[in-house]
Amino acid sequence: MSSNLRKPLIAGNWKMHLTLAESVALARTVKEGSANAPGEIAICVPFTALSVVAEVLKGSPVKLGAQDLHWESHGAYTGEISASQIKDAGAQMTLIAHSERRRLFNETDAAVNKKIKAALAAQLIPVLCIGETLEEREASRTFKVLQTQLEEGLKGFAPTDLAPLVIAYEPVWAIGTGKTATPDQAQEAHLFIRKTCSRLYGEAWASGLRILYGGSVTPENVDSLMSQPDVDGALVGGASLKPVGFLRIVHFQSPAGAKR
Ligand code: PEP
Repeated sequence: MSSNLRKPLIAGNWKMHLTLAESVALARTVKEGSANAPGEIAICVPFTALSVVAEVLKGSPVKLGAQDLHWESHGAYTGEISASQIKDAGAQMTLIAHSERRRLFNETDAAVNKKIKAALAAQLIPVLCIGETLEEREASRTFKVLQTQLEEGLKGFAPTDLAPLVIAYEPVWAIGTGKTATPDQAQEAHLFIRKTCSRLYGEAWASGLRILYGGSVTPENVDSLMSQPDVDGALVGGASLKPVGFLRIVHFQSPAGAKR
């Protein structure tokens, strides 16, 4: 199910790293080094760095993202940040349901669903992260887990509401572990995700949906992953903090990239 309509997207996830000065320097390097990249580029930074990085990226095609949000627009939710605050700080997108949030902060599919709604209402591009644990893969439950995360996370929307949505397939066993899914494993999961989305919201929406792979993406493996027909980009954690390596990832080379 390949499509020429899907512009590749490489997104960095800085997680809870970098000072403001380091954030500014890295954002500057990404901005300056990303000319002529084959796809779109985004960096998802800590909340505290959104405003300063927005200033650096002003006028650049590099998109700015947050890493999470609260689903309410405002109110007595000490410690939380709303979609409109993220937008106001200069971001255009946000990660939702990263496996670290699901695993360490008990984020449920019901909360994920509300967060997607809030992001869309604030005109932020939601990047919905889904993926199975090693235990689930070994028990042959990968497809079942992905299906539930998609059905519950995307419950109650119309396909037109979901036009900006991006999905990141991130097998939990591959995140931050140095164990990458093989290109065939990634393609198999991405095709399943696209077919499930097609069943849920129609072929037209699903064929335009961008599905990123995340999990120990490096300069060494990005080209083979991006060569798969249903891999439309990458969500990059650790390697997005290393300027030279991240710029090599951003300038991935693949026959699929050339076709798009
Ligand atoms: C991530 O943070 O989404 C991620 C995939 O991390 P890493 O690239 O370090 O595995």
